[in-house]
Amino acid sequence: MEHRIILPEYIKQLLARLDFRGCPGYLVGGCVRDTLLGAVPEDYDIAAAASPQTLLHCFDGYKVVQTGARYGTVTVIADGHPVEITSLRREGVYTDSRHPDEVVYTDDIIEDLARRDFTVNAMAYRPDTGLIDPFGGQKDLQRRVLSCVGDADKRLSEDALRILRAMRFCSVLGFTPDPALIQAANAQAPLLEKISAERIFQELVKMLCGKYAGTVMHQFPVPLCTVIPELAPAVDFDQKNPHHIYTVYGHIAKTVDACPPEKVLRLTMLLHDIAKPYVMTEDEKGIRHFRGHQERSAGMARKILTRLSCDKKTVDKVCRLILYHDIRPAVDRVSIHRYLLQVGYADALLLVHVRRADLSAQAPAYHFQFPLIDQSEEMIRALQKEGAPVCVQELAVDGRDLLSLGIPSGPQIGETLASLLQSVAGGEVENERQALLTLAKQLAGE
Ligand code: ATP
Ligand code: MG
Repeated sequence: MEHRIILPEYIKQLLARLDFRGCPGYLVGGCVRDTLLGAVPEDYDIAAAASPQTLLHCFDGYKVVQTGARYGTVTVIADGHPVEITSLRREGVYTDSRHPDEVVYTDDIIEDLARRDFTVNAMAYRPDTGLIDPFGGQKDLQRRVLSCVGDADKRLSEDALRILRAMRFCSVLGFTPDPALIQAANAQAPLLEKISAERIFQELVKMLCGKYAGTVMHQFPVPLCTVIPELAPAVDFDQKNPHHIYTVYGHIAKTVDACPPEKVLRLTMLLHDIAKPYVMTEDEKGIRHFRGHQERSAGMARKILTRLSCDKKTVDKVCRLILYHDIRPAVDRVSIHRYLLQVGYADALLLVHVRRADLSAQAPAYHFQFPLIDQSEEMIRALQKEGAPVCVQELAVDGRDLLSLGIPSGPQIGETLASLLQSVAGGEVENERQALLTLAKQLAGE
């Protein structure tokens, strides 16, 4: 098959510069894969038959960032785009399941491609040579199969992060993992313990935000439950409840797919029901109940995400959404306004996504509730538009107003403001200064 890859001008110029210096450069990795898939690559990576020393001096006239110059990687800013240029290298020996003990440079592109993780990532391209594909990457692209370069067990045990990279690529590209890859991912999963939490979390989030994350959860439950052991009891856990037709794990996987591909939402769905197996009770009719699973799941999520080095802001947000995921306010103005006092506008609008995803993974008999969620969302947006207050700071009166009414300073001020807010939400009074002052006086007199 003939491939004419259209390259941006700045990339052609970088390749020409390398040629001029006598060290041929090749496009490698994700940009070749994505271009062959018909997608526009996010960035271009170049591998060059040049020593790290040579690379440093190749690009005068360009802005060069010495990202890992000692190890043969520089970032050249070309036409405003950062382009990573790396010295060709061959596979070193791995003893720690994380990185090679030493870097060995080479001028053979095939050797460089051989150390790469998956066949679809192990192709190179040069306009004059065309595609260089020694490991059947094109064939795998056509079959939409992800396979390791060489022996899967060996490659995944050299660097266990590749297990999560495999899950990520399957999720993002919708590829089917080769059976040998699945088998090796299961066998080598214990080595994930050697990988830093930061790198695990980074790959996990990319995997979760892929279009086929739910499918990947079913293809790779073992590695996933190795990085999150708390999830293991959910696998095969029968809910025995009329709302549910899936296992806890199956339900979770479906909800992940059903919500927008954003980090906070996908993490929320992954962990929203994780405590169910831990809090389950079964009644005399054999129906299972999961009282308190929201609080327990939120608590477990905090521990898991913190352990995985997730940033605190995301942890807090995810835990709040999990804590509130099961609240289903009635669809009338007062109920929705009271709900907003509890969760606030921003979280309420995120919870709409969470609730839809959750419902879509429940028994179809309950799907009649979708319009109720739509109506809740409309009402939340309407209240937001009219500026309905959801915290005391948004009331048309403040503490000083109450002091000047003669209410003594101290806890009574806060309590009165809270009562006023409740009254506004309850529809008993408008959020209007005079009306609130009158009501505050009444409350003080009681
Ligand atoms: P994207 O940039 O879209 O995330 P990518 O394929 O470019 O995808 P990178 O993480 O940028 O992925 O890595 C660039 C290339 O380097 C990969 O395509 C692969 O050939 C190689 N590579 C990266 N990480 C590893 C690894 N852990 N083991 C083996 N090869 C790797
Ligand atoms: Mg890349």
